[in-house]
Amino acid sequence: MPMARIQFNYPLISHNTFGMDVKAKVFCEYNDEEDLRQLLLSEVFAPYAENFIVIGAGSNLLFLKDYEGLVLHSCMKNLAVLDETEDEVLVQVGSGYVWDDFVEWSVSRELYGAENLSAIPGEVGASAVQNIGAYGAEVSQLIEKVEAMDLQGDLRCFSREECCYGYRDSIFKGDLKGQYIITYVTFRLKKNPVWKLDYGNLRAEVENAGEVTGETVREAVCTIRHSKLPDPEVLGNAGSFFKNPVIEREQYEHIRDVYPSIPCYPVDERTVKVPAGWLIEQCGWKGRRWGNAAVHEKQALVLVNLGGATGREIMDLAERIAADVQKTFGIEITPEVNYIL
Ligand SMILES: Cc1cc2nc3c(=O)[nH]c(=O)nc-3n(C[C@H](O)[C@H](O)[C@H](O)COP(=O)(O)OP(=O)(O)OC[C@H]3O[C@@H](n4cnc5c(N)ncnc54)[C@H](O)[C@@H]3O)c2cc1C
Repeated sequence: MPMARIQFNYPLISHNTFGMDVKAKVFCEYNDEEDLRQLLLSEVFAPYAENFIVIGAGSNLLFLKDYEGLVLHSCMKNLAVLDETEDEVLVQVGSGYVWDDFVEWSVSRELYGAENLSAIPGEVGASAVQNIGAYGAEVSQLIEKVEAMDLQGDLRCFSREECCYGYRDSIFKGDLKGQYIITYVTFRLKKNPVWKLDYGNLRAEVENAGEVTGETVREAVCTIRHSKLPDPEVLGNAGSFFKNPVIEREQYEHIRDVYPSIPCYPVDERTVKVPAGWLIEQCGWKGRRWGNAAVHEKQALVLVNLGGATGREIMDLAERIAADVQKTFGIEITPEVNYIL
């Protein structure tokens, strides 16, 4: 019998930030790779080999109903410095380590690179799946390697290149979806900072605090985020519901003729990224309610659970918004949030 903790008909309400009151048929937590291997090779897992999910803190998931399969959750919370040079430190972090605790750990040791990613909910394992990003930084810029176990219990080490990182994307969401469970992520942190402050009002907020340090950048990021984003403890949400669409420049220019204020961020010579929140706001959805779900009043990209919303209600709202954006601008917006059936 595996050493993992196994529970049946387990409530997931405290394991997803949308606050969906759903249950998992089986819920398993493991403390290390050996626990996980035994679990994957056990009779408990066998019937669910095609019907399981791995979750972190559930801050990017939308459960549409009770989950009839098996949910895996890592409790691997170890952190080890693997190597140190004059300029850099390599840190291996367990998949169950809370992401923001890792950022705090690095900032407090004057190690740099993660400070712009402060206060993003979730755990380290998922950060490497999602390629989390904020304020001009992406976690893939820090990742040295990702260790993961396949369903036969064999370990594989992925270099950053092998993870195929893109905007909120990786091989773990694409070709290898459902095939690997991340156990450790190794980050390369710098001893000398390279500040990234030219995003939104970050520079102004940092300068308010005086000197630019890891601590002041982290504080500024936290302050801005808390002023803009709803706290999931108060109002269930999963952050940005949609990805920002990337469109052809030509299409952008046509739209700009009609909507001169449409913002964009260049991606390459051919394409630009358009803020999905702006598109949604133009369609009049900001602050609108749909049953027990709503579009947040301060940030149109965030859908919220006003209390008692079902996953279907939130999905329904999202589909209506996407259809309106498509009709108005001819742009397809797709969810960043993972729907769990
Ligand atoms: C208020 C709020 C603000 C947010 N702001 C941002 C932001 O600024 N930038 C940003 O990028 N994201 C943001 N998010 C989204 C979210 O925090 C990230 O996507 C985060 O990485 C999800 O982590 P998690 O541990 O909750 O993963 P979950 O939501 O539990 O899972 C996410 C995905 O990762 C997979 N997964 C999780 N752990 C593992 C593992 N060990 N092995 C394999 N697969 C795994 C899951 O199957 C799922 O597909 C925000 C969310 C909220 C609620």
